Amino acid sequence: MKVIMLGAPGAGKGTQAKMIAEKFGIPHISTGDIFRANIQKGTELGAEAKKYMDQGLLVPDELTVKILLDRVAQDDCGKGYVLDGFPRTIPQAKVLDEALEKLGEKIDYAVDVDVADEHIVKRMSGRRACLKCGATYHVEHIPPRQEGVCDSCGSDLVLRDDDKPETVMNRLKVYHDQTQPLIEYYGQKGILRKVDGTMEMQDVFHAIVDLLG
Ligand code: AMP
Repeated sequence: MKVIMLGAPGAGKGTQAKMIAEKFGIPHISTGDIFRANIQKGTELGAEAKKYMDQGLLVPDELTVKILLDRVAQDDCGKGYVLDGFPRTIPQAKVLDEALEKLGEKIDYAVDVDVADEHIVKRMSGRRACLKCGATYHVEHIPPRQEGVCDSCGSDLVLRDDDKPETVMNRLKVYHDQTQPLIEYYGQKGILRKVDGTMEMQDVFHAIVDLLG
């Protein structure tokens, strides 16, 4: 099963994507995580991506599409995958569809985790991330066992540069301009499924599982 998670930054799609991937035993693929891992490792790709990410802008399509297509071609993607944060533009969606079509495959579902803008800024300022292992938390909704410390690897948790309020406002604008048109794109293909992302995390999860069933 191939699933795309759509939704504004901070809508909770990353958390849901991980839970769905685990439930169905397929990889969770986040282009944001791939970029952050590259920044952490100090690669050339990471340095290039960081220039855009720190401003809340999208990394150019050429760069993003290549890393995504390389990733989905790996052996662990045979049974499908959950894409989190890709595609983010219509051209990215088209490249993905064309690449899959050549293999006789297609995306099964695009799930829109719907949360109004006014909730988003509030939510994101509570987000905390571990820059070492990529785990994410929320001071209210998903607190770590010990404040400011990652449950998985014990590193310090931080408010990511791209979760800071001024960057969040930029990311929301970018989302509305460039990513929201994907809702109509997948709607026209008949594979769009919408869930109310303001519900409790577990309720959102169960709603998504029902939709995919
Ligand atoms: P995320 O963790 O998905 O919120 O992504 C963090 C940042 O990485 C975004 O704000 C973008 O700068 C960049 N990014 C992640 N995925 C993409 C994508 N599909 N296209 C362009 N930029 C992306």
